[in-house]
Amino acid sequence: MNIKENLDFFSESIKGTNAKLIAVSKTKPVEMLQEAYDAGIRDFGENKVQELANKYEVLPKDIKWHMIGHLQRNKVKYIAPFVHLIHAIDTPQLLKEINKQALKNDRIINVLLQVHIADEESKFGFSEVDLLDLLNSESFDEYQNIKVIGLMGMATNTKDDEKVLSEFGTLKSIFDKIDKTVSKENIAMQELSMGMSGDYKLAIQKGSTMIRVGSAIFGERNYNK
Ligand SMILES: *Cc1c(COP(=O)(O)O)cnc(C)c1O
Repeated sequence: MNIKENLDFFSESIKGTNAKLIAVSKTKPVEMLQEAYDAGIRDFGENKVQELANKYEVLPKDIKWHMIGHLQRNKVKYIAPFVHLIHAIDTPQLLKEINKQALKNDRIINVLLQVHIADEESKFGFSEVDLLDLLNSESFDEYQNIKVIGLMGMATNTKDDEKVLSEFGTLKSIFDKIDKTVSKENIAMQELSMGMSGDYKLAIQKGSTMIRVGSAIFGERNYNK
C-alpha cells in the first residue's frame, strides 16, 4: 500500500469537481495518518469516538477531524471541544445533545444530517419526511450552537450502478429542496457527503462535495487483529 500514490490518484481524479477528499483512517495506526498528513491531507474521518480522540491527542493540531460514524449521545462530550464536522446525525435527540455540548464549549459545531437512502435496514438516517419535519419545527430554532451545513448518505452496497446513482440522486434532490425551501439561521446548505471507495465516482456525478474514502487509500481494514 503506497499511501502517497493512492492520494495522488485521488487528488487527480477529483480535480475539476466539487468534491473534497476525506481520508477515512478508522482502524489504521497513527503512522499511516501521519504519512497521509505529510502528503498534504488535513481532513480525516473516523467512526469511533475513543479512537478519534486518541488520534487527535497525538497528531498535528491543524487536522480537521470528521466524525463519520454512528454517534452515541453519551459520547458527544469527548469530541465536542475540537471536532470539525459531525456527519451522521440521525435523531433529534442527538442534535439536541450536540447543541448542549457545543454551548458548554462556547462554540458552534457544524453537522450534517444523515438521510436513509439505501435498501439496507442497518443503515441509519432520517426519512425525507422526518427530516423536513425536524428542520421546520420550532424546537429546531432553539439549537443556536449547531449549524446544519448539509446532508450525508450511504448508498446500497450493490454492483448495480443505476441503483446507486438513483439513491445519490435522491439525496441530492432532498438537499436542493431544503436549500430552496427552508430558511433558518442555523442552516446553511453547502456540503453533500456521499461516496466511498466503491462508489465515489457515482457520488461525484450526482454532486457530492465530500467523498469519504478509506480502503482505497489505506488498504483493506482488518477488524480481527
Ligand atoms: C468506513 C466508512 C467509509 C469508508 O469506506 P471505504 O469503503 O473504506 O472507503 C465511509 N463512510 C463511512 C460512514 C464509513 O464508516
